[in-house]
Amino acid sequence: MNTELKLSSEKHPESCPALVLNADFRPLSYYPLSLWSWQDAIKAVFLDRVNIVSSYNKSVHSPSFEIKLPSVVSLKNYVKPPQWPAFTRFNLFLRDRFNCQYCGEASDLTFDHLLPRSKGGLTTWDNVVTACSKCNLKKSNHLYHEANMKPLQWPYKPNVHELHKNGRLFPPNYLHDSWMDYLYWDSELEA
Ligand SMILES: [Zn+2]
Repeated sequence: MNTELKLSSEKHPESCPALVLNADFRPLSYYPLSLWSWQDAIKAVFLDRVNIVSSYNKSVHSPSFEIKLPSVVSLKNYVKPPQWPAFTRFNLFLRDRFNCQYCGEASDLTFDHLLPRSKGGLTTWDNVVTACSKCNLKKSNHLYHEANMKPLQWPYKPNVHELHKNGRLFPPNYLHDSWMDYLYWDSELEA
């Protein structure tokens, strides 16, 4: 929709994502952070699904109207947040605080199956750990006790709160100023 919309600023509009808050003004999701493209955010505004909480200084316009690109929107209807985070590479690394679970190395990370796939190990939260390439290669198809490589932490399925706790240690590279009021507010309270 809105193909007739023209950006009044020619600077990369794709770099203007909107932070999406639930109706309780908490981010809809943290991992990944709930962000919509400006197109999706404006569409939701027109569909009356969100309120605009904060805006960028850029705007889009058509012959009949002009609207600032939203930087923060909140849903009008509360959505029950998922209790369990998605099983993704990023979330796995986050659970393990971006450290190889065999040697503690923080670079060149990949993941390793505690019970190797060749021995029936599944790619699940409780069988996969963060590992550096070196350890991954070293452990190869061995069982951890055969290779004498006991993980620092036994793999487990984290809940959203556990990831959120670790997430404060690794904030995303890019956070717009207008988002800060809605992120990490509970860490302020704990400080
Ligand atoms: Zn390692």
